[in-house]
Amino acid sequence: MTSFESLMDFSEFKLNSDGLLPVVTQHYKTSEVLMVAYMNQEAFEKTVKTGRMTYFSRSRQSLWTKGETSGHFQYVKSLTIDCDKDTLLAKVDQVGAACHTGNPTCFFQPIVGDQYEEINTQQVFESVYHTIMDRKEHPKEGSYTNYLFEKGIDKILKKVGEEAAEIIIAAKNPNPEELKYEMCDFLYHMMVLMAERGITWDDIMEEMAKR
Ligand code: AMP
Ligand code: ZN
Ligand code: ZN
Ligand code: ZN
Repeated sequence: MTSFESLMDFSEFKLNSDGLLPVVTQHYKTSEVLMVAYMNQEAFEKTVKTGRMTYFSRSRQSLWTKGETSGHFQYVKSLTIDCDKDTLLAKVDQVGAACHTGNPTCFFQPIVGDQYEEINTQQVFESVYHTIMDRKEHPKEGSYTNYLFEKGIDKILKKVGEEAAEIIIAAKNPNPEELKYEMCDFLYHMMVLMAERGITWDDIMEEMAKR
């Protein structure tokens, strides 16, 4: 249980006509909006105390810890109140799906405009890294990644060096296509090296953010 300390008392918030505080809940890593629900004082205080999102269910008129039946808990990363103190923003680590329909987010029904999926750099890198780690743990027949792991660290390092050299050569070409391609080759081999040495993207980002 991660207990938090609130910088504000619930009495300082401006409640809606039902006496509740609307809460926008976002995934702390992707910023995806997961759901909107409501809190009363008890829900707010329980959320702060337990580090698990607890709302007030308007349909059941009772306190509701998200995930209590589904196991899809939401672990609090931060709570922020808006300018006029009438809406709470919660950033959470979501277990499983946020929506009771099984959708990752409650907002999956298009009404107006194109529902294009945002390509998030971090997600793409995490996903490739995840696949590499998966190959490491469950080797797959004919996988180039597994070939690299089997050959070992020296082979991986050799490839990182080669791909770096190919970036230098490609950069001489005014057309960026080749450079783009070689940079991807390099980044892939970097990720194999990271996986081999147990370095995650979180480790890299933590170090990078300090600079
Ligand atoms: P859970 O909190 O995930 O264990 O789900 C318990 C019940 O809460 C579900 O059966 C739904 O009635 C309701 N519920 C769960 N998630 C949501 C949501 N994102 N929005 C509205 N109601 C929900
Ligand atoms: Zn507001
Ligand atoms: Zn939903
Ligand atoms: Zn290459």
